[in-house]
Amino acid sequence: MAYSSGGRLPGESASKLGHLSVIKSDWVKSLVAEFEQASPQEIDHTNTIWEKFNPEGVTPLRNVWAVDGSYVAIQSEQKPPREVAFVKTALLTVDRARLEAIDKEHPHPLLLQDVLTGSAIFHATVFPLKNIQTQLGNNYEAVRNIVKDSIRIDENGAFYETLKWLAYRKWQRDQVSTSPGFECPHCHANIGQGLPHDADEGQCPACGKLVFLTDMIGFHLDMDEESAPDSVASAYMLVMETLMLFTAVRVLWNHSDKSLVSETLFIKDGPLTLRSQYSKLVPSIRVFLEYARNSGRPVHIIGQEKSGAFFDHLASVARFAAPLERDQPASVAVLSHDFVRREVHRSPDLANPYGKRTNWGEKVYFKMDPGTYLVLNVPTGEYLDDVSKPTKDDLIGLSRVLATLPSLISHKFEGALFPVELANGIASMSSYPSASILQRFLNDQNHSS
Ligand SMILES: [Zn+2]
Repeated sequence: MAYSSGGRLPGESASKLGHLSVIKSDWVKSLVAEFEQASPQEIDHTNTIWEKFNPEGVTPLRNVWAVDGSYVAIQSEQKPPREVAFVKTALLTVDRARLEAIDKEHPHPLLLQDVLTGSAIFHATVFPLKNIQTQLGNNYEAVRNIVKDSIRIDENGAFYETLKWLAYRKWQRDQVSTSPGFECPHCHANIGQGLPHDADEGQCPACGKLVFLTDMIGFHLDMDEESAPDSVASAYMLVMETLMLFTAVRVLWNHSDKSLVSETLFIKDGPLTLRSQYSKLVPSIRVFLEYARNSGRPVHIIGQEKSGAFFDHLASVARFAAPLERDQPASVAVLSHDFVRREVHRSPDLANPYGKRTNWGEKVYFKMDPGTYLVLNVPTGEYLDDVSKPTKDDLIGLSRVLATLPSLISHKFEGALFPVELANGIASMSSYPSASILQRFLNDQNHSS
């Protein structure tokens, strides 16, 4: 990045590097040569395997739900600065037929309002990060309680019900499940058996203190007693995006019209991943998606990655794939675990199967027209523990998903999906109170305490 902004010629950088004795290393020489190489690649050295996608006879999905979120950390001016984080997430639904009537480059505000009326909900909360404390307890306790209350308060507890639905696998009519196991926030003992079916709270068997179902998610593992890092806010955003999207899935799954859930495309901005301790919900999500598919009611979910290793890799190889001209058929590439390890991450870490613990979607590239390509995540249901997997047929409803996407493409941002753009508008920073007002709020708190 410094290279393009600095605007220096490669020769200049190389001549500076030439003074360093390290340039004698063959490895360094080769690196410098690679950096200087002016001619673009002529072939895809990673051999991405593309297939033609033919949408003929495939019915696009009728409805779309999209979720997105954002967070911002704000510091007060006094020393040491007080710091809080605001998190906001939004979920909205659009009718694809009504959406198609809208000019996606210059949407008419009234038409847009019509599409969105009554169809968007948002959720927001605030966390103490540093040098600020409530009267009720330390920040460790504050974050635990804010998480519990925030998830339960909005939409009459619908998001919390979804947490319980996933944690206790409540789609299963014939059996009851306990929650995933978790670490006690008080004594750090492992509560391996989890909480009993449908419980909101329980007692730690080791220390006897009260634990909440929301402790199972694991925010306390990111914190110490007095301060929380930004990562609590980013993790909360991810968890809430997932819970809000699955609230839409859950409501449609239980709808009297049994076909409705399978006629819907659910879109999450970003990868279908829950990292580190937050991955405890991944097995439940996988089991549900597998169950839905086996019940003949497949759930079509995608994540879209707009940055990161896969986006960069696709950006470097997309020009070699069809379509090279308009009106040629689209192409799709389903990435096997082996390909991801070898060509994208370039780390043959064979000890752990790729993405098994944290991912609930597999990686797919889709090139729709010469200038439009997307990195998608598409679930398979249960994890396929095989380096040559997944293949096209393993991905839930891939053809119907791909047949739906062309009508959702935004013309404002390259490769963006219009419903995600709309959700982003609701969840973005611009709809927060301005930073200066928040800062004044923090400073006022200081004077009154
Ligand atoms: Zn305990």
